[in-house]
Amino acid sequence: MAKACLHLGSNMGDRIELLRQATAMLGEQLEVVDRSAVYETAAWGHTAQPDFYNVALMVQTTLHPFALLDYCQAVEASIGRAKTEYWGPRRIDIDILYIDDLIIHTQRLTLPHPRLHIRNFVLYPLNDVDGLFMHPIFGRSCADLLSDCVDTTIVRRIDEAL
Ligand code: ADP
Ligand code: MG
Repeated sequence: MAKACLHLGSNMGDRIELLRQATAMLGEQLEVVDRSAVYETAAWGHTAQPDFYNVALMVQTTLHPFALLDYCQAVEASIGRAKTEYWGPRRIDIDILYIDDLIIHTQRLTLPHPRLHIRNFVLYPLNDVDGLFMHPIFGRSCADLLSDCVDTTIVRRIDEAL
């Protein structure tokens, strides 16, 4: 059984509802063992876009890494198709932050996620679900990564839970 951390983002339509739908669908194949608070973050570099809602999920799975990516992408595609009038690239984005302490560098899958450590909106929810995370390449803890992170984007914890 592998332990993986997934990061979900949505900035179109009913963002909290889309995150809930994605979490429910992921739960059909994976065991969701913990979920972070929901955070609101301004879209990077595209201020005309609506703000993102982001959440991290800790999951347990017997799926192999590429099968887990396939499943995450199937959930993205399924939710992306659900309401075509709201079609957009970021209705739902599901990234794998890491799977145990695996290091993978392929075109389809990089683990840990290559931008995990430079994004406040990833580190805040990650800290909720796995504050003891240790980055297997940098040898830095989640707390270290948070204090090293130069991202100044404001990340606001919202009241509504997933
Ligand atoms: P982003 O998440 O960076 O905004 P996309 O969601 O469009 O961009 O993902 C682009 C590609 O990144 C995917 O097709 C996938 O194959 C690849 N990828 C590489 N590593 C990962 C990972 N750890 N989690 C999710 N996708 C990944
Ligand atoms: Mg993605």
